[in-house]
Amino acid sequence: MSAPLTIIGTGMAGLGLARAIRSRDPHRALTLITADSGDEYAKPLLSSAFTKGQSAAALAQRDALGVADAIHATLRCHTPVEAIDPHQRTLWLGAERLPYERLVLATGAAPWQPFETPEALAERVFQVNDLDDYRRFRAALERHPGQPVRVAIVGAGLVGCEFANDLHAGGHRVALIAPEPAPLPRLLPPPLGLALAEAFAAAGIAGYFERQVQALEASDGGVALTLDDGERLAADLVLVATGLRPRTALAAGAGLQTSAAGILTDRHLQTSDPHIHALGDVACVDGLNAMYVQPLQASAKALAATLTGTPTAVGYGAWPVMVKTSLLPIVALPPRETPARWRIDGEAGDFSAVAEDTAGRLIGFALTGACVRRKVELARAAPPLLG
Ligand code: FAD
Repeated sequence: MSAPLTIIGTGMAGLGLARAIRSRDPHRALTLITADSGDEYAKPLLSSAFTKGQSAAALAQRDALGVADAIHATLRCHTPVEAIDPHQRTLWLGAERLPYERLVLATGAAPWQPFETPEALAERVFQVNDLDDYRRFRAALERHPGQPVRVAIVGAGLVGCEFANDLHAGGHRVALIAPEPAPLPRLLPPPLGLALAEAFAAAGIAGYFERQVQALEASDGGVALTLDDGERLAADLVLVATGLRPRTALAAGAGLQTSAAGILTDRHLQTSDPHIHALGDVACVDGLNAMYVQPLQASAKALAATLTGTPTAVGYGAWPVMVKTSLLPIVALPPRETPARWRIDGEAGDFSAVAEDTAGRLIGFALTGACVRRKVELARAAPPLLG
């Protein structure tokens, strides 16, 4: 009989793995532990749910009981793991000590915020990285019934831009603030980022680029944001989307090898401890932490095979990211290294940008507007993310 398996985290990575294990081994003892409610949901849908008018309850596909039932597992929700003792193979859950035989860390990534939120603004400043966050943010928006809410979004990466588009489509007044000259700096070369800024501006989303938030204060029943050039903006709510950092503290505390990019694993998702594996947003697999759904799905499949007796190395294809900005459709496959040049064609929002290395080989691409139809052709020509 195979060793019982304990998985920390019930996001798409932890649940995806549990499901993949169950389909290969109906009898394996599985314990899942999560700090949150344990509801099953697809995180990418959080940033398109205002357009569709979806509540948190509508986004939850199953509650924790339903999940446990469907995969015949023990699921412990609202149970943060405080420490791992890798020598005793024990988890610390408050006063309880829970032994494990094989452990998988799927603890995801946590939002990072570069400025303080005054306590008085706790009900007005949000980060949305899981369903519980979304529930709270949506409730705050609903406290202003029948009127557009002024939402200042700080950060113009994937999460900030998708929420800007979504809240605007949901009828709210959005301002987008970021230190870079244009949105999506990690996915798009500047001319394409500017095309998105123009599409946002044309729709009425106010862009404050090359600006940083210096301070937040309570003011007139809302929030006053002071920018680094002294300008003050008024908002009802603030959504902070300034990036995510892998939750490596548990692993680091247990002496596992970690870096700023995550828990270090090999292609078999094994950490520096042979009894502990990691996958999803928390894992840096062979030097890469992609932080997207397709890599974690490939990891779940490979790890399930490994943990059920067929050692399998994970590989990632050339999987482009589809950005959910209906105001300007975008597809991008960001290059792993800085390109020698971007070759950019197009105009008026319809751009193709191909990233090349010094030998002129395609190493990534970004497409906007009507050019997104080239995604299959270019993805075929691109190198795999993890070959
Ligand atoms: P998480 O979903 O963060 O799960 C982590 C789990 O670990 C949670 O259950 C948490 O409670 C638990 N946990 C953490 N610490 C502890 C602890 N100490 N004890 C117990 N439990 C713990 N990707 C795409 O490919 N396409 C998209 O369009 C896309 N859109 C996105 C939109 C948004 C708004 C966001 C935020 C992300 C988006 N992503 C997208 C990224 C994608 O959603 C993530 O890569 C993926 O959901 C990460 O899953 P995960 O299971 O690794 O982490």
